[in-house]
Formats: sequence, structure tokens, C-alpha cells
Amino acid sequence: MNNHGNIQRLIDLRHQLHREPELSGNEEQTANTLLQFLKQQHPDLLVTAVGGHGIIAVYNGEIPGRTVLLRCDMDALPINESTEVKYRSAASGISHKCGHDGHMAIMCGVAAELAENKPVRGTVILLFQPAEETGQGAARVISQLDYKPDLCYALHNLPGFSMGSVITKDGAFAGASRGMIIKFEGKCSHASQPLEGTSPALAVASLITFFSKVSKHSEGIIATLIHASIGEAAFGTSPGKATVMVTLRAPTTKKMSQFSQDVTQQINLICEEEKLQYILSWAEEFPVTANAELPNSIIRQTAEQLGYKTRDAKRTFPWSEDFGHFTERYPGAIFGLGSGVNTALLHSSEYDFPDQLIPIGIAMFKGIIDRSLKL
Ligand SMILES: [Zn+2]
Ligand SMILES: [Zn+2]
Repeated sequence: MNNHGNIQRLIDLRHQLHREPELSGNEEQTANTLLQFLKQQHPDLLVTAVGGHGIIAVYNGEIPGRTVLLRCDMDALPINESTEVKYRSAASGISHKCGHDGHMAIMCGVAAELAENKPVRGTVILLFQPAEETGQGAARVISQLDYKPDLCYALHNLPGFSMGSVITKDGAFAGASRGMIIKFEGKCSHASQPLEGTSPALAVASLITFFSKVSKHSEGIIATLIHASIGEAAFGTSPGKATVMVTLRAPTTKKMSQFSQDVTQQINLICEEEKLQYILSWAEEFPVTANAELPNSIIRQTAEQLGYKTRDAKRTFPWSEDFGHFTERYPGAIFGLGSGVNTALLHSSEYDFPDQLIPIGIAMFKGIIDRSLKL
């Protein structure tokens, strides 16, 4: 895979995936594009419709051994692309702003490598996972997985770190997050008699004030208000209902559960004071992505052997990764690939995955497979 023709083929594939982005759960065309490529890489097994539009390509060695799973993500984001690249998104309001197009191209490159050099022992599973951004894909895939991986790995491109550097971290790599939906139930009344009803307006105001003060950013404990609505846009009615949505983040499972309790307690207090009922629900839950010792050391050794610059992240990243569902169940680890210090941030409309990371990602995964299967 070191010759330019093969890398160019993967760059072209990345650009095609970039041009045809699809939202979480809708990755149908993406899966078709990947399938066309993967069929030519002659895996021993190719399974489609895994946890939605996911795909698994399996390569078996002659001698039994470990099962190693590599995972990439397939979904794009509801963001209008603002770059002028020639392969810019053809889907209005949707684009690959988390670099998952690059992750898929890397994984296809790994498949091409394995097609040429099948593993001698053990089993390699290449998983193309749908719906990462909504935190639903990994759990769905795992519920349908017929394998129990001994080791699993993933990578994520990371702006803010020098191009091609490998970012590792012991323990928690990415934090937990969960969406909280609070529905206040009061009583609407005629706008001329607001005292006859129970308006949730003050409760919403208190809660928003609370969320603006409760975060401890240096500790990675963050509440971010996402949405708030009160009543209807009708001048004759004092509102009886309101909805507030907030994302909670914490660096460990324990801290997340404490933080959720604290927030819930505050909502209780506010509602008692304002004589309101409320209904609480949760969405898009991401567990902590915790790196296990063995796979993490394999990542480090591989990067050193390949001569890539490595960097240890000092703190758990505040964003979440649904790869945490894998590391919760199997020994696994994720690493970052630096995509440049002065690049746009992930999820910003200007971000574009740098193609020069493709051969680096392939070399890392290939080295990781070799080490993992040799043990
Ligand atoms: Zn993302
Ligand atoms: Zn991502």
C-alpha cells in the first residue's frame, strides 16, 4: 500500500464519500460506496446491514489466534459546508465535519493491505459503524455482533495537534456525555389573568441561570444549554408548558452520575418552588471511552516503531465517542491522529480531513494488527 497509485485510490474514495455525506442512521449510499471497494479486497466474510447500514469485513488467518476488531465511523453532520474544495458536499446542509470520511478511507486501506497480506493467525474484523454522532451506532452493532473481540481499536483525527502525530492517553480518553430533556408541566391561562395559571417561565429562567454557573470547565464537568422553549407564540395565552434541553459532560462514569444527580436535585427544588410538575428524559448517552492498558501500550509501541511523533494527552477530552460502548465491554483503546495545529475545529463548517493522514492511519492500524496477533 505504499505506492502512490494505491494511496491516490483511497484519496479519491475519501473525496467521493465527502461529496455524498449522510446523517446518522441514513448511511445507505455511503455503505454502497464502501461495499463496492471492499468486494475487491476479497475478505473471507463481508456482512452488511450491521446495526443499520454498518459493514463488517473479516479476514481469517490459517492458525487460530486472537480476534482483533478495528472500528471506523460512517456518519456526517447536519452542517452546511463552507469550504470550496472541488469535492465539496453535494447534500445541502450535510457534510463530513468530523473527518469520518477519512476514517473510512483509512479502514479501506487496511482492507487493501489485508487482501495482499492475509493475517497468518487470528481474525481481523474491520467494522464500518453507522450513527456515531448520535451515540446509537456502537450499541446497535454490538447487540448484533457474532464475535467477542479480544482487542478492539479506533482512531480519531484531531485538529490542534501537529500533523501526523499520534495522541495517546492512559485510562479515560474521551468523557461521558448525555442529553437531558426537561419538560415542565404547569397550567396555561388567559394572558389577562396570568395568576390563574402556573407559568413555567421563572423555572426556565432559574434553570438556565443554574446551568450557566454549574460547569467546572477545568475539571471537564460541563452543562451546555442546547434548547429552550416556553408556551406558544400566542399573545392571548400565558404559557403552561416549557422544554429545556441540556448536554451534560463529565470525565468519569462516577462523576457523570454525581453530576446528573446534582442537576436533577436542582430541578426538583425549582419545581417545588414554582409549583410545577416535570418529566425528565435522557437521550444520546455516550459512556466514557476508557483505554485499557494492553491495547494502549500496543498503540504506543506501534507509533514508536513507525517513528511517528507521539504525545500523551494530559486530560480526558471533554467530547464523547460512542467507541466507549466497545471499551466498556472489551479491552480496547482509541488514539488520536493530529490533523494540524492551525486547522479548523471538528464540527466546524470549514473543517476538512487532511488526506496526508490516510497512509499514516493505515500504517498505524497495520502495525497494531501485527502486534496484537503476535502476542
Ligand atoms: Zn463528531
Ligand atoms: Zn467523530
